Amino acid sequence: MPELAEVEWYRKQWNPGLGDHIVDLSLHARNRVFRGTNTRALKENLIGEKLLRSRARGKQTLFNFSGDNWLGIHFGMTGKIRVESANFRPDKHDHLVLQQRERALVFTDSRQFGRVRFHHAADEPDWWKSDVPEIISREFDQKFVDQFLDRHRKAPIKAVLLLQNGFSGIGNWMADEVLWRAKILPPRRAEKLRHRERAALLRAAKFVAKKSLETLGRDYSDLPRLWLIHQRWKRSGICPRHRTPLRRATIGGRTTAWCPRCQR
Ligand SMILES: [Zn+2]
Repeated sequence: MPELAEVEWYRKQWNPGLGDHIVDLSLHARNRVFRGTNTRALKENLIGEKLLRSRARGKQTLFNFSGDNWLGIHFGMTGKIRVESANFRPDKHDHLVLQQRERALVFTDSRQFGRVRFHHAADEPDWWKSDVPEIISREFDQKFVDQFLDRHRKAPIKAVLLLQNGFSGIGNWMADEVLWRAKILPPRRAEKLRHRERAALLRAAKFVAKKSLETLGRDYSDLPRLWLIHQRWKRSGICPRHRTPLRRATIGGRTTAWCPRCQR
């Protein structure tokens, strides 16, 4: 499932189309990704308009078009965005294709847990507004983290990091990376974390979010070499710090990897 850095990478894939008009549009109106969306309004309003800008937040993206038009894309499990040549023919999983003169902007989702939303008004849509601060923002501070941990004090810290109304955009691999950096054992209950561990958690969350937003590319190979992610899926994965074999367990429903020496 795409996490904030992957979502940011996908968002940028449509950048070649910035400033250009949508000359035609095709979509699979009955597909689940359009649930609750007026696809006729989407089509009628977007054709003839220009792609102006886009933003990513947590696991969501918002594309703003001229004429007060907004397109929201949530990637679900398998959603992807890409650019194809102008004479592109959509496949069965290419649920939305915005045709420009020079290229096609494509949204694909094989498992259809993703979602495409449309909004036509001067102001950004209600479903985009959020009071959950982005991890890299100043509002995501120790006070916010402490209050959030206190609200979920009985839960394993790994599961708390996966809650989107606190750690927006964090998914499985980033949660493990954050806990490894902060030297916190993933199954520990949130209430057991000491002050300095909570401070380390905040620092690690900001560092991992910022660094991965800056460096993540098509795959994970651009992330810093000494991160846990390069080891976590390997059968013989080792801690990048001192080569201790990693441990694994299912926590909060997700496979979790950690170093038994760094994280106790
Ligand atoms: Zn270690």
